Amino acid sequence: MGKKKSRFETEVIHSGYWPNEHQDSLVPPLYQTSTFTFTSAEQGERRFAGQEEGFIYSRLGNPTVKILEERMAVLEQGEAGLAFSSGMAAVSAVLVALTKTGDHILCSQGVYGCTFGLLELLKGKYGIEHDFSLMESAEALDQEILPNTACIYIETPINPTMKLVDLELVAMVANKKGIPVVVDNTFCSPYIQTPLTLGCNVVIHSATKYICGHGDVIAGLVIGEKEFIRQVSRTTQKDIGGIISPFDAWLLLRGIKTLPVRMDRHCENALRLFEFMKSHPKIESVYFPGDPEHQDYSIAKKQMKQSGGLISFTIKGSKVSAQQFMNQLQLIKIAVSLGDAETLIQHPATMTHAVVPEEERKKMGIEDNLLRLSVGLEAWEDIQEDLDQALERI
Ligand code: PLP
Repeated sequence: MGKKKSRFETEVIHSGYWPNEHQDSLVPPLYQTSTFTFTSAEQGERRFAGQEEGFIYSRLGNPTVKILEERMAVLEQGEAGLAFSSGMAAVSAVLVALTKTGDHILCSQGVYGCTFGLLELLKGKYGIEHDFSLMESAEALDQEILPNTACIYIETPINPTMKLVDLELVAMVANKKGIPVVVDNTFCSPYIQTPLTLGCNVVIHSATKYICGHGDVIAGLVIGEKEFIRQVSRTTQKDIGGIISPFDAWLLLRGIKTLPVRMDRHCENALRLFEFMKSHPKIESVYFPGDPEHQDYSIAKKQMKQSGGLISFTIKGSKVSAQQFMNQLQLIKIAVSLGDAETLIQHPATMTHAVVPEEERKKMGIEDNLLRLSVGLEAWEDIQEDLDQALERI
C-alpha cells in the first residue's frame, strides 16, 4: 500500500499504517506507554514548542492511537481524526470547543439520552441554550437558526426513533450562514453514510458500537478539518483529558478491519427481521429506514448505502407488555449498546433515554411501549424464532 487511494474494503485494513515505519510488523503494534523519551533537553524543548515532530506524552498523542485516527479520517473522507475514551467524551469535547456562554445549539428532534444530559448541563452551568428541530425544510431551518447559533447537532437515524434528517439540506442552509454541522454517525458507520461528503463539517462516533463491533471497548472518535481537529486536540481533549487508551485503540484497529463484512450481515439480517416484524399481529409499528413506507424513506435512499442494523418497534399494549416481551427472550440479550455480534434489545423510556423528562421523550416520539433492537450477526432464523416465541407468550 502506497499513497494510492483504495476502495473502502481495502482502506479499513491498510490505511494509516505502513509496516516499514514499525519494525515491519504486519499488524499495528501496541505502544502501551504513557510517555516518550527525549534524546536531549533541547529535543524535549523543540517537541513542546512544536518545532519538531514526535511524541511527548500519551495524552497528547500515541503511535497506536494515531494509526486509528488516520484510518478513521480516511474512512469518513475527512482531513483528520481524533480518538477519545468514550463517545460522550467526543461529544462533549466537540460541543465545548464550538460554544461559549450565551450561544445556542440547534439539535435534531431527538438525541441520545446522555447527549441530552450534556445539553442540559451546558444550559444550566454555562447558559448555552438549545432547541430541537425537525429540520424538514430550508425555510423552517432559516427561522430556527438564531443569530447566536454556534452549531447544528444531528443524529440520523435518530436514536431510538429512527427518524432521519436530510444532511445535504441542513448543510446547504448552514454552510451559507457559516455554521458548523456536527453529525453523530454512530448508527451508520462510514460504510453506510459519510456526512462530510454531504457538506457537514464534523463527524462523531461512539466507537463503542459498530466501529469496535465486538462489545469489548468504550471509545469515541471525531473527524473533521485538520485545523478544527488540531484545536480540539490541543484544548478540550488535552486539558479535559478524555483520551483513549492505546490498548483500546489497538482493539478498534482490529475490529475496523471487518467493518464492511459485519455491516453487510447486520443490514441483511435486519431487513429479513423487519419483514417478519412488520406483519406480526402483536407488533403495532416498526421503525426502520429500509421500510418503503418509512416517512423518511426517500432520505434513506439518498444518503444511506444500506438501511442499517437497528430496528425500533412498538409492542401492542403498554410498558408492561414491552417488558413482559423482553423477559421472554432467550437468545436475544437485554442490554443497552448496539453494533455488537450479539443481538441486543433495550427499552429506551427506562434505559438509554430515562434521563429525558417524560414530556420531552414523548415529543421525541419515545413511547413507553417502544423497544430498540440491535440486530446481531447470528443466523437471522434464530433471531426471528426467538422474537416469535417471545411474542407468542405475551
Ligand atoms: N451517540 C449515540 C448515538 C449513542 O448511541 C451513544 C451511546 O449509546 C453515544 C453517542 C455515547 O457513546 P459512549 O457510550 O461510547 O460514550
